Amino acid sequence: MISETCGGAIVWFTDLSAAGKSTIASCVFEYLVARGIKAELLDGDVVRQRISRGLGFSREDREENNRRIGFVANLLARNGVVVLVSAISPYREGRDEVRRKTCVSFVEVYVSAPLDVCERRDPKGLYRRARAGELRQVTGIDGPYEPPIAPEITCPTHEEPVETSVDRVLRVLLPWLVPQSASSLADQ
Ligand code: ADP
Repeated sequence: MISETCGGAIVWFTDLSAAGKSTIASCVFEYLVARGIKAELLDGDVVRQRISRGLGFSREDREENNRRIGFVANLLARNGVVVLVSAISPYREGRDEVRRKTCVSFVEVYVSAPLDVCERRDPKGLYRRARAGELRQVTGIDGPYEPPIAPEITCPTHEEPVETSVDRVLRVLLPWLVPQSASSLADQ
């Protein structure tokens, strides 16, 4: 699945805010880097402070944000980096467009947690502010979310600990990254 020519890949974590995308992506990142595998995190919040500063949360702006993330991810991945994207990326077509256009492998990870679980977690206070009428266009409240139809990996984070989700991702990735020692790495 990982590109045979360059070794890079795009691993795209998608779902509602607080579903657990960044938490799982960070653990996978640390695992890979600790083993000398070139990896980068592209976190949706960081992207919005940097290359997407000024964009809002309309459909048009979210699509543009998605395109920018896809562009950067592709640049890195075609140079041999495993790029871990964590971004709500609510529109299926936007995610599919990145998949279609990239020259490397694209692994979609659906981090599926129901809205009520995400609302209870609410680490950024996003849902509380949305319910109080202080924020608009919040995905899951008054903004749409289109789940993947056939993701490579699904992580139901309301039903399993972080470690299990991390393991799901690594078990798909590792065989292509380090074919000769994948099974022993996955067991560590
Ligand atoms: P997102 O990146 O999807 O917005 P975050 O990873 O930033 O979500 O936040 C998810 C929150 O949910 C974190 O505080 C994390 O500790 C918590 N959490 C609880 N259970 C899980 C789980 N099984 N997987 C991932 N995160 C979990």
